[in-house]
Amino acid sequence: MTTPNEISFIVSQKGKKMLNINNFIFKLNKTTGTTKYYRCEDSRCTVTARTDLQDTLLNIKGDHCHPPEPEEIQIRTFKQVVKARAISESTPIPQIYDEEAARMDLSTLSIAALPSQRELS
Ligand SMILES: [Zn+2]
Repeated sequence: MTTPNEISFIVSQKGKKMLNINNFIFKLNKTTGTTKYYRCEDSRCTVTARTDLQDTLLNIKGDHCHPPEPEEIQIRTFKQVVKARAISESTPIPQIYDEEAARMDLSTLSIAALPSQRELS
């Protein structure tokens, strides 16, 4: 792979930290004293990844059997940000929603798939 891997973190609905590598979502499988082992969230997929405890990507193994999900990840990130702000600020949720949708420059497709404000509150 010639381009560097883009990694970030998102938080799942259950509050678990998930790793996003190049728009594929990985879940933490196990942690040892030096290494965190991740595997692709798609249960049919066999791709695994390793990071050190500082979340530096060490290696990715295998090929995904499915396309990446940039839209899904964008939506999950959006929900996470809106929820976090709703908890920590007194800003009304509809306002947070509008501000964050504008800030994240969501594509039309993503906006169509966004949860309603009711779902977020
Ligand atoms: Zn995969």
